Amino acid sequence: MQYGRTTLTQFIIEEQRRVSGATGDFSGLLNDIATACKVISNAVSKGALAGTLGEQGAGGETNVQGEVQKMLDVISNEVMLRSNLWAGHLAAMASEEMDEICPIPNQYPRGKYLLLFDPLDGSSNIDVNISVGTIFSILHSPNPGTEAALADFLQPGVKQVCAGFALYGPSTILVLTTGNGVNGFTLDRDIGEFVLTQPNMSVAPETKEFAINASNERFWEAPVKRYVGECLAGKTGPRGKDFNMRWVASLVAETYRILTRGGVFMYPKDSKDAAKPGRLRLMYEANPISFIIEQAGGVATTGRQRIMEVQPTELHQRVPFIFGSRSEVERIDSYHSEYASGREPDNLDSPLFSTRSLFRNE
Ligand code: MN
Ligand code: MN
Repeated sequence: MQYGRTTLTQFIIEEQRRVSGATGDFSGLLNDIATACKVISNAVSKGALAGTLGEQGAGGETNVQGEVQKMLDVISNEVMLRSNLWAGHLAAMASEEMDEICPIPNQYPRGKYLLLFDPLDGSSNIDVNISVGTIFSILHSPNPGTEAALADFLQPGVKQVCAGFALYGPSTILVLTTGNGVNGFTLDRDIGEFVLTQPNMSVAPETKEFAINASNERFWEAPVKRYVGECLAGKTGPRGKDFNMRWVASLVAETYRILTRGGVFMYPKDSKDAAKPGRLRLMYEANPISFIIEQAGGVATTGRQRIMEVQPTELHQRVPFIFGSRSEVERIDSYHSEYASGREPDNLDSPLFSTRSLFRNE
């Protein structure tokens, strides 16, 4: 480590000093989360050496989402729970891997925050050694000091106090916002501390890169087909420029790429499964990522509504999720509203297509 660099601990304490009346609870909570991320980073990096690759249980157990649980999903969930149960900062927790909310055991004091997390995002990638991560969101508990109920968690994303994610890639990175910009920290394994390496991260407003699971194309709605079709048409199409496509299938990795060099990510509403209005989960995936993206100057929507204004009705509810560089997300939103108002051209080859686009100025 170079002398004079800011550690996460120092950063958190300095942030705390700027808030008058801060009790240190919040700093303690962030430190506990950061510790959990270090433990998970270590567990993930051992790979086959620790015998923790593959599925949980002989027959492949499934979580509340009906998804096969990996051994490391279960380990990461345990680490997050144990790191955050005892300190008295939380009134309850909720996890992707747990059907119900997780109360604080009786022997510990109840605090004033609620913690939601996806303990291991992108875990279908774990066996092939592609980046995974941990996503978290912190809310105020409406009744601090007492046991929280499910209804207490159902707050829209605009109410988040803090959001962040750890990315376990070639290096381990923690990205954090408390509503005052976005900062990135790299884990220095020599000293066991996260060190501020990416201060004031921002999403480039323009981009030539998009990410979508193209195998779902036949299930997409017209506005998304139109947008992707225009990107694919490249220089000779209405956009007049060539695009690149990326797809990691790991939300944390996609988010970090967009924070680093711009881009747009789409997991839009589709007709693949009528019971699911989207793929990603609002409360511990879309909301925390949206808070970070907005704080970095990007935009995050369902195509029809700002993600952070969606009123949650269920802990594990799914939403369509489109986020990234401002100009592209605004364009995709405008295609959705043109479609809703009947102004959407029904033929992608229509000569009207390029001339009526609101953003035709490249
Ligand atoms: Mn996930
Ligand atoms: Mn997960």
